[in-house]
Amino acid sequence: MVESAIKTGVDAEAAVPMPAAGALFGLELAELTAVMAGLGQKAYRGRQVFDALYKQRVASLDEMTTLPSSLREELKAAGWSVGLPEMVQTAVSVDGTERYLMRMADGETVETVWRPDGDGGERGDGSEAASEEAGEVVDAVEAVTAKVDKRNWGALAEKGFRRATMCISSQVGCAVNCQFCLTAKLGIRRNLTAGEIAGQVAAVLNRHGVKMGKDRINLVFMGMGEPFLNYDSFMQSVKVLVDGVGVPESRMTVSTSGILPGIERYAKEAVRPKLALSLNASNDVVRERVMPITRKWNIAKLLEAVKAIPLKTREWVTFEYVLLGGVNDQPEHAREVLALLNGLRAKVNLIVWNPGPGIDYHQPEPGDVAVFQKMLIEGGIATYIRRPRGRDIYAACGQLKRTISEERGSEKLVVIGAAV
Ligand code: SAH
Ligand code: SF4
Repeated sequence: MVESAIKTGVDAEAAVPMPAAGALFGLELAELTAVMAGLGQKAYRGRQVFDALYKQRVASLDEMTTLPSSLREELKAAGWSVGLPEMVQTAVSVDGTERYLMRMADGETVETVWRPDGDGGERGDGSEAASEEAGEVVDAVEAVTAKVDKRNWGALAEKGFRRATMCISSQVGCAVNCQFCLTAKLGIRRNLTAGEIAGQVAAVLNRHGVKMGKDRINLVFMGMGEPFLNYDSFMQSVKVLVDGVGVPESRMTVSTSGILPGIERYAKEAVRPKLALSLNASNDVVRERVMPITRKWNIAKLLEAVKAIPLKTREWVTFEYVLLGGVNDQPEHAREVLALLNGLRAKVNLIVWNPGPGIDYHQPEPGDVAVFQKMLIEGGIATYIRRPRGRDIYAACGQLKRTISEERGSEKLVVIGAAV
């Protein structure tokens, strides 16, 4: 289509079909140009809308002051809006972590998490952020007890920039049914669109007045849902975040539970976040028990697909490993993990299991966590322990389940999985 457009002398960017009216946020430049062309406007108007959405991060059409007001009215009349998710509730942890309940246009909600100064997981993410984390070591006792960490977003501001990691959701609920994860209890309600995924980022950046290019923002696609079961929207969100919002892909990490076709597609992408694979067990027997999806794609198949990814210089694949007390946290498991990862350019992020109501697992003993980490490091694998940020407000890994807090009298209650 682009080729024929060039032949006929029409602006190639205008040659994509005009998207159906709705949210502008999430559309690429060519699509925005098509929208403007549909209103009889020249191509530069598409660029203006693109910049307003992603660089200025406007929340409404009225804020698009680079467009004449008549054109803004025309857009509204045609059924267009910016369409950022609405932040309807905020919970703030004692450690500075914030968890937001985000409402989409149809009323569905997901959660997004903001972690000032990250959670130590970046060290193992093989991303650019990893090299900035030197000296920040999370120990096993801290990981289990969630001792409060006093550092906060303000502390780095004194150095002239701020750093935070944002955890983004890709689906409303999740279909994968990992037995240790609270999100699994929701089942899958629907996929998010690219705009709804990237829109979480814009809404949170706006809340904190983040200046792109100055402040350092890391994104992890590790919130609710399985990004590789919503592949196209996930990848399109990456495109607008990179090209529009200005977050380099080297500062993004996508985590998958092991969706083989997704890993194969990911391997072929020119622009892609870093990969994290939720290994979570050292053999198929245990993995099938904790992650039933292993019956479809076993560990060997997943590792084969990971080996086929053309890694760039200084790029690693991260293996996440949720430590479940007495299930997968013993020395024999560490030995099996070493054997599995032999020959791979791998880092390991150990995540102490975060409890959730109705989930029948136990936290590992701090001593077992320490031994597990030591064995992997001695076996030659860089291994980090993720700091359990925001556990008190159900914002830590695997705790996202559309939690809402309610004030009842003087009491503040956290209601898990409440219908909203
Ligand atoms: N669906 C993707 C990304 C979201 S889950 C995936 O599974 O990879 C992000 C990470 O949290 C995964 O590594 C997952 O194994 C881990 N996780 C899930 N539930 C957890 C829990 N209760 N405690 C600690 N980590 C958990
Ligand atoms: Fe889904 Fe990831 Fe939770 Fe598994 S761990 S149920 S894939 S969100």
